[in-house]
Amino acid sequence: MDDPDEPAPLSMSAEDFRRYGHRLIDWIADYRAGAAARPVQTEVAPGALAHDLPASAPEAAEGFEAVLRDLDAQILPALSHWQHPNFFGYFPSNSDLAAVLGDLASTGLGVLGLTWQSAPALTELEQRTTDWLRQLLGLSAAWSGVLQDTASACTLVALLCARERTTDHAATRSGLQGVAAPLCVYTSADAHSSVDKAALLAGFGREFLRKVPVDAARAMDPVALRAAIEADLRAGRRPCAIVATTGTTTTTAMDPVDACATLAREHDLWLHVDAAMAGSAMLLPECRAMWHGIEGADSLVLNPHKWLGVSFDCSAYYVRDPQHLVRVMSTNPSYLRTAVDDEVVNYRDWGIPLGRRFRALKLWSLLRTHGAERLRARLRRDLDNARWFAQQVEATPPWRVLAPVALQTVCIRHEPTGLDGDALDRHTLAWLDRLHRTRQAWLTPAQLDGRWMVRVSIGALLTERRHVEQLWASLRRAVQ
Ligand code: PLP
Repeated sequence: MDDPDEPAPLSMSAEDFRRYGHRLIDWIADYRAGAAARPVQTEVAPGALAHDLPASAPEAAEGFEAVLRDLDAQILPALSHWQHPNFFGYFPSNSDLAAVLGDLASTGLGVLGLTWQSAPALTELEQRTTDWLRQLLGLSAAWSGVLQDTASACTLVALLCARERTTDHAATRSGLQGVAAPLCVYTSADAHSSVDKAALLAGFGREFLRKVPVDAARAMDPVALRAAIEADLRAGRRPCAIVATTGTTTTTAMDPVDACATLAREHDLWLHVDAAMAGSAMLLPECRAMWHGIEGADSLVLNPHKWLGVSFDCSAYYVRDPQHLVRVMSTNPSYLRTAVDDEVVNYRDWGIPLGRRFRALKLWSLLRTHGAERLRARLRRDLDNARWFAQQVEATPPWRVLAPVALQTVCIRHEPTGLDGDALDRHTLAWLDRLHRTRQAWLTPAQLDGRWMVRVSIGALLTERRHVEQLWASLRRAVQ
């Protein structure tokens, strides 16, 4: 009980934190332990929670007790469960509890990496853990890494660096007026929307973002890529960058990184590789052929916050020329200068935000708690489950697997004889809706060549073979 004679505390005391912190950890542990027993998707109506929440903040202290109460009463009912074993949507966004603890340590420390000096361990652990990760991915020592929030931000930084290299820093000096010929960016027709966004934000313009056609395996066609580059050159435009994807969002298709690197070298283009999802697979030596040629890229991004298990957000960005990155991104106001700037890495110059969280703690915590072997075993389990699932689908017409299963995502459609076009689309969306209304599985529909299909993305931490078997049974029920 608070002493009525004592002035009210102006911040949470360490003792209160200890008390409530233990309860919150218990709450999270109970949530995770009981996740499988919940319906994976919520049924909440849009606006329902917002309607229930007070329109303004409390003037009088309510205490953390109230927060704990409403986590159960208000927040949980309005959430679907990404850590559920029946989560087969989007891509896995695994949040291993070892990483959760690392993240808690980060926020608990409350330090900020503005400069090396502002939090030396923040910088040096990030240098070390990104280098650990580099080695685990089979990348050469020519790469230097940094942790950012998202792949979207990393791809934007990559295109800014590409723009500045092609223009010899003219765009930095004079903005959009500094460049005579329009600069062009090339990416696959199946690239993630973050590439479009990055190209627009970096000033290339939609008109100069070339969407290169894909081949039968949905990988960027290098012949079409060459033709697009040469057409731009003939027209007096300046090819600037290629963004290749290792593991596209819709089908996990693998663009030919090697062929892209050859073209990039030939025409002096920047090559950025978006391996947001599939990068984690490169922990497995047997998968590394999927990004063969990666050493010819200038930059690459992968998201340990997807399949690998580091709680969102944790995006690893690697570059071969950190000096160029720093030259593009650096600002040097007097209040951030320190006496050791020449001896240290200042990560503020490696990306967009100034302040940075101690993200490396959660990656460090995951890698140390489990070790690479256990992480690899989990990734292999998921690949195996995806192969098994694809075999069942292929062996059961009129179900079809629509794209090569490179990793853990299987694109499927149920195609009864006589149904095509819009009628097939209606059938696909209707059975998915029936399945979702059981709230027993969460899948993502997507369009392939303009027609709806369903992605089954396997790889949540708790998803075992039996969950995939149950899903397959539920899918067959849903089409009856
Ligand atoms: N690139 C690919 C291939 C993706 O699949 C995704 C997201 O799923 C992204 C980029 C965007 O990732 P982020 O949310 O980290 O920006």
